[in-house]
Amino acid sequence: MPESAEDVWARIVGASRRAVDGECPECASVTPERIVWEDDSWILSYSDGPAELSTALLLQTREHTRVGQLDDDLATQFGRISNRLVRIIENLPEAEYVDVSRYGAHRGHFHVWFFAPYAQDSKDPVDLHTVATKLANWGGNARA
Ligand SMILES: [Zn+2]
Repeated sequence: MPESAEDVWARIVGASRRAVDGECPECASVTPERIVWEDDSWILSYSDGPAELSTALLLQTREHTRVGQLDDDLATQFGRISNRLVRIIENLPEAEYVDVSRYGAHRGHFHVWFFAPYAQDSKDPVDLHTVATKLANWGGNARA
């Protein structure tokens, strides 16, 4: 049985790994309702991005770590998930392409943004249920 959003939230908040500067804004601000997909190590959530985007998604680790500090397993997972996610979104009619970006060196979790502008002549947001279920074909759990 998949974990409930409340269980996921409790696990994130209850993580025993050290937070940056004793506080972790990401853990404090994770909203279970915004989780699109997740597995044991990663959380993909959506954000209210700029109006010109069909979607703005944030992929981050559950553990407190940084870009450049992933172990080989997490780095490999990140490559696979990112590649699949971009391929999924770029094959949807709502999105033109996907920009992959990392901002904020001092956040507590490894995190990367996926920004997808609207496809030409489209103003429909990306169907997050489709993204979640397609990503879950390789593992993890669809939440959207
Ligand atoms: Zn945290």
